[in-house]
Amino acid sequence: DVSARVEVAGGDEIGRLADAFNAMARRREQLEELRKGMVSDVAHELRTPLSNIRGWLEATEDGLVAPDRALMSSLLEEAALLQHVVDDLQDLAVADAGELTLHRRPTDVRELLDQVATAHRRGADGAGVHLSVEVEGEPSVAADPVRLRQAVGNLVSNAVRHTPPGGRVALRAREEGADLVIEVADTGVGISPEDLPLVFERFWRVEKSRSRRTGGSGLGLPIVRKLVEAHGGSVSAASVPGEGSVFTIRLPVRS
Ligand code: ADP
Repeated sequence: DVSARVEVAGGDEIGRLADAFNAMARRREQLEELRKGMVSDVAHELRTPLSNIRGWLEATEDGLVAPDRALMSSLLEEAALLQHVVDDLQDLAVADAGELTLHRRPTDVRELLDQVATAHRRGADGAGVHLSVEVEGEPSVAADPVRLRQAVGNLVSNAVRHTPPGGRVALRAREEGADLVIEVADTGVGISPEDLPLVFERFWRVEKSRSRRTGGSGLGLPIVRKLVEAHGGSVSAASVPGEGSVFTIRLPVRS
């Protein structure tokens, strides 16, 4: 929207004001571009499972596919994917609006990691991935256990999905100075140095087709970042392609 721009003559006070307005206009244009891209990404994420569902139903109507158990489980799987994308979008919208309310209480970190591991045990077993919990001492943190479980759970789900059979995923925790450090380390495919800075971007994926088959929404890591930042913490990633990745959450425990 170029019409929002102001012509600037000199370096006086009015000139600086005009500069500020122009910077605001540019920022608005950038945000608008971002928003447009996001809407088209959302449409894409929803379209794929929807068109799969339609495809299955049309084939059934045409008598090409039997309305049996196998069909039902395919339909359920696609519906679950839709639900997953919509739930993730909802979480991000709430966080963006600054309406993410945390219900903090003293949280036993070992217990929390055990709960996350238990929730992912079946999936890991099915993928032939060994899951372990390694906690130093008895760390505790003032956190919203539901939200922290969700954040760590997203990391574990990624780690399991990107680790070939026979690999390992470790959930670790320890105190380091004034911080609680939680790590999710895997011996999976890893992420290249060019891709690493992008993994926390919305809808970003290393390889669209591969990740689609491994069943994510492309919103998992952006949500992890929002949840951790809401706790006053930070999250980072390190990786060696072909060897594995480590995602690290740092939460302040003492100030
Ligand atoms: P998705 O829903 O696709 O998993 P995420 O935001 O959780 O979306 O992750 C973004 C991308 O980062 C993934 O598609 C994948 O390419 C890459 N990624 C995330 N975690 C890992 C991991 N542990 N190992 C390898 N690649 C990963």
